[in-house]
Amino acid sequence: MRLIESEYLRAVERHIRCPETSDFTLTLLLKTLNQKFSTMAYVISEDCVACGTCIDECPVGAISEGDIYSINPDECTECGTCADACPQGAISLG
Ligand code: SF4
Ligand code: SF4
Repeated sequence: MRLIESEYLRAVERHIRCPETSDFTLTLLLKTLNQKFSTMAYVISEDCVACGTCIDECPVGAISEGDIYSINPDECTECGTCADACPQGAISLG
Protein backbone atom coordinates (compact mmCIF):
# COMPACT_ATOMS: atom_id res chain seq x y z
CA MET A 1 0.00 0.00 0.00
CA ARG A 2 2.84 2.39 0.81
CA LEU A 3 4.36 1.82 -2.64
CA ILE A 4 1.06 2.70 -4.30
CA GLU A 5 0.72 5.83 -2.17
CA SER A 6 4.25 6.98 -2.98
CA GLU A 7 3.67 6.38 -6.72
CA TYR A 8 0.46 8.36 -6.45
CA LEU A 9 2.15 11.27 -4.70
CA ARG A 10 5.06 11.29 -7.15
CA ALA A 11 2.66 11.37 -10.11
CA VAL A 12 0.73 14.26 -8.59
CA GLU A 13 3.93 16.15 -7.81
CA ARG A 14 5.22 15.73 -11.37
CA HIS A 15 2.03 17.14 -12.82
CA ILE A 16 1.85 20.03 -10.37
CA ARG A 17 5.38 21.07 -11.34
CA CYS A 18 4.73 20.79 -15.08
CA PRO A 19 4.06 24.30 -16.51
CA GLU A 20 2.01 22.76 -19.32
CA THR A 21 -0.47 21.21 -16.93
CA SER A 22 -3.83 22.98 -16.97
CA ASP A 23 -6.20 23.05 -14.02
CA PHE A 24 -8.55 20.82 -15.98
CA THR A 25 -5.83 18.24 -16.65
CA LEU A 26 -4.77 18.27 -13.01
CA THR A 27 -8.35 17.86 -11.81
CA LEU A 28 -8.88 14.96 -14.18
CA LEU A 29 -5.62 13.35 -13.07
CA LEU A 30 -6.49 13.65 -9.38
CA LYS A 31 -9.98 12.24 -9.98
CA THR A 32 -8.59 9.27 -11.89
CA LEU A 33 -5.88 8.54 -9.32
CA ASN A 34 -8.32 8.87 -6.44
CA GLN A 35 -10.70 6.40 -8.07
CA LYS A 36 -7.84 3.99 -8.69
CA PHE A 37 -6.16 4.13 -5.30
CA SER A 38 -8.92 5.25 -2.93
CA THR A 39 -9.44 3.22 0.21
CA MET A 40 -12.65 1.33 0.82
CA ALA A 41 -14.14 2.05 4.21
CA TYR A 42 -15.77 -0.60 6.36
CA VAL A 43 -19.57 -0.48 6.59
CA ILE A 44 -22.12 -1.70 9.13
CA SER A 45 -25.05 -3.76 7.90
CA GLU A 46 -28.62 -4.06 9.14
CA ASP A 47 -27.50 -7.01 11.26
CA CYS A 48 -26.23 -4.46 13.80
CA VAL A 49 -28.03 -4.78 17.13
CA ALA A 50 -26.53 -1.57 18.55
CA CYS A 51 -24.59 -3.40 21.26
CA GLY A 52 -21.91 -0.70 21.27
CA THR A 53 -18.93 -3.07 21.20
CA CYS A 54 -17.35 -1.59 18.09
CA ILE A 55 -17.43 2.07 18.99
CA ASP A 56 -14.77 1.78 21.71
CA GLU A 57 -12.56 -0.36 19.49
CA CYS A 58 -12.15 2.18 16.69
CA PRO A 59 -8.79 3.94 17.07
CA VAL A 60 -9.87 6.97 15.07
CA GLY A 61 -13.41 7.50 16.38
CA ALA A 62 -15.01 6.81 13.02
CA ILE A 63 -18.04 4.95 14.41
CA SER A 64 -21.26 6.68 15.47
CA GLU A 65 -24.15 5.45 17.58
CA GLY A 66 -27.65 4.91 16.25
CA ASP A 67 -30.37 2.28 15.89
CA ILE A 68 -27.84 0.84 13.48
CA TYR A 69 -24.32 2.09 14.13
CA SER A 70 -22.50 3.76 11.24
CA ILE A 71 -18.96 4.35 10.04
CA ASN A 72 -17.74 7.64 8.62
CA PRO A 73 -16.01 6.60 5.37
CA ASP A 74 -13.82 9.71 5.45
CA GLU A 75 -12.35 8.74 8.81
CA CYS A 76 -12.15 4.95 8.53
CA THR A 77 -8.58 3.76 8.00
CA GLU A 78 -9.57 0.19 7.08
CA CYS A 79 -7.85 -1.29 10.12
CA GLY A 80 -10.58 -3.93 10.53
CA THR A 81 -10.57 -3.84 14.34
CA CYS A 82 -14.30 -3.17 14.56
CA ALA A 83 -15.12 -6.03 12.20
CA ASP A 84 -13.14 -8.44 14.38
CA ALA A 85 -14.91 -7.17 17.51
CA CYS A 86 -18.51 -7.23 16.28
CA PRO A 87 -20.37 -10.22 17.79
CA GLN A 88 -22.96 -10.05 15.00
CA GLY A 89 -20.53 -10.11 12.10
CA ALA A 90 -22.27 -6.95 10.94
CA ILE A 91 -19.17 -5.05 9.80
CA SER A 92 -17.40 -5.66 6.53
CA LEU A 93 -15.48 -3.86 3.82
CA GLY A 94 -17.85 -1.74 1.74
S1 SF4 B 1 -20.34 -4.31 17.44
FE1 SF4 B 1 -21.64 -4.91 15.69
S2 SF4 B 1 -23.70 -5.19 16.55
FE2 SF4 B 1 -22.49 -4.03 18.06
S3 SF4 B 1 -22.91 -1.85 17.61
FE3 SF4 B 1 -21.08 -2.41 16.44
S4 SF4 B 1 -21.83 -3.07 14.44
FE4 SF4 B 1 -23.58 -3.06 15.82
S1 SF4 C 1 -12.07 -0.41 10.22
FE1 SF4 C 1 -10.83 0.51 11.88
S2 SF4 C 1 -10.85 2.72 11.43
FE2 SF4 C 1 -12.52 1.80 10.22
S3 SF4 C 1 -14.32 2.03 11.53
FE3 SF4 C 1 -13.46 0.01 11.93
S4 SF4 C 1 -12.10 0.28 13.72
FE4 SF4 C 1 -12.53 2.33 12.85
